[in-house]
Amino acid sequence: MSYFNHLYIKGLGILSDKLTHKNILTKFAVQNKCMESNLLIDKSQNEARQGEAYASQASSGVFQKHFYVESYGCAMNFADSEVVAAILEKNGFGGTKNIEIADLILINTCSIREKAELTIRKRLTEFRRLKQANPGLLVGVLGCMAERLKAQLLEEEKLVDLVVGPDAYRTLPDLIAEAGTGQKAVNVLLSRDETYGDIAPVRLDNNGISAFVSIMRGCNNMCSFCVVPFTRGRERSRDAFSILAECRDLCDQGYKEVVLLGQNVDSYYWSNPEDNTTITFAMLLEQVAQIDPSLRVRFSTSHPKDITDEVLHTIVKYDNICKHIHLPVQSGSSRILQLMNRTYTREWYMAKIDRIRALLPNCSITSDIIAGFCTETEEDHQETLSLLQYANYDLSYMYFYSERPGTLAARRYEDDIDLVTKKRRLQEIVDLQWTLSNESNKRDVGSIFEVLIEGNSKRNEAEWMGRTSQNKVVVFPKGNFNYKKGDYAQVKIHDFTKGTLLGGLI
Ligand code: SAM
Ligand code: SF4
Repeated sequence: MSYFNHLYIKGLGILSDKLTHKNILTKFAVQNKCMESNLLIDKSQNEARQGEAYASQASSGVFQKHFYVESYGCAMNFADSEVVAAILEKNGFGGTKNIEIADLILINTCSIREKAELTIRKRLTEFRRLKQANPGLLVGVLGCMAERLKAQLLEEEKLVDLVVGPDAYRTLPDLIAEAGTGQKAVNVLLSRDETYGDIAPVRLDNNGISAFVSIMRGCNNMCSFCVVPFTRGRERSRDAFSILAECRDLCDQGYKEVVLLGQNVDSYYWSNPEDNTTITFAMLLEQVAQIDPSLRVRFSTSHPKDITDEVLHTIVKYDNICKHIHLPVQSGSSRILQLMNRTYTREWYMAKIDRIRALLPNCSITSDIIAGFCTETEEDHQETLSLLQYANYDLSYMYFYSERPGTLAARRYEDDIDLVTKKRRLQEIVDLQWTLSNESNKRDVGSIFEVLIEGNSKRNEAEWMGRTSQNKVVVFPKGNFNYKKGDYAQVKIHDFTKGTLLGGLI
């Protein structure tokens, strides 16, 4: 879900379809690194980055034409915007963070919940003024919403000139040329093999410490609530050599962390066409970890049915593979899990948690949960609460169910839980998770962690902000030590605020 260093926050966009613990917990769960208000962030989905506009520093001043891109949704979208930036830079467009000077505005969209789409629609209307001031300006919609709504978007949003699905970014230069002649340009063809593996992404967030590396695209899982298989197509794994080359290159450039991304990373499976040897996720993880012991490796997202002992043993084996697993459960009721087509039961999931705890006692575990899925009873809801307690998550991303047109659930089941009930159940989940997160922080007091320094603390330049292997944010005084961004420091935790561990160098 990652991309997070110098952030340009435009508000908390799609937050409002989540209930909050008196607006506290969710806010912390979605704030970004720079705001330091979350203790532990799922690097695959940082909602504080929703609508972030960014551009590579390298591009400033070199190009005659400029594109401006805003990204919404999961980490894959942010990573895709970096691929789009690379394609555009090769074709004469430099990135800008200044929308006023852009010749091309792109909005990389998310369809996961209705609220996400509404946020983007609203944002599009704000471009009208710019179009009126500059009739040559082109506006393009990229990503999942483009894929879901296709040409319909052109009719509904009159100011849109281009609609480009996630597998069609290579055709952007042609589509821009077509749109430049006054035609509307659309390419939403999904592919069975596009991975953009040969394109070196242009890093847009400029922190220079952590980078996303896409290892696969699409999803074959067909969870009944989810629109992703329809908007991102069939699952395909990227050439392992190109992944390793990208990670090595990042390491050579001084990056200290790579986040391997996919909707379901554990089902990564690549066959080398030269000799038919195959590479599984565990093998890939190991090879990335071996690039350099000082390069941290994270990954997201794991599907409980696919994460193997082999992967867990690989995490155990390498200190630089971060001890954090994002293992979304969605519901604690086996009946609801079946309706969701998650292909595991409550008991099976609990056994997976036991296995992780047995092999990796220091591993943080986080989750995604949906409240109020079709037919969910109070009993089902209680099972979700008790599962939260059993798993003892360090953090969860919590949503209420939002029916998405075309999904299996929309076709098969009635969205029969009223909004008041959905929100009340979500609030109960949020409240419980808040307690669990607090207890998790309390347990860290007195412990020493290796912290990767990501930059100055936002609130105080005399303090560093960094992250533990477990993905918790730590703030500590710089003191008289000569540490710099990208260094590892040993930090003893003495306290915590709602979103941050507080420590001191030892
Ligand atoms: N592939 C990942 C997985 O399976 O865990 C993440 C997919 S999705 C981008 C992130 C989360 O959004 C899901 O885990 C789920 O909790 C939530 N989500 C997806 N569809 C939803 C819907 N229709 N309503 C509410 N939440 C949804
Ligand atoms: Fe959606 Fe399920 Fe695939 Fe995740 S695994 S992207 S929730 S279909």
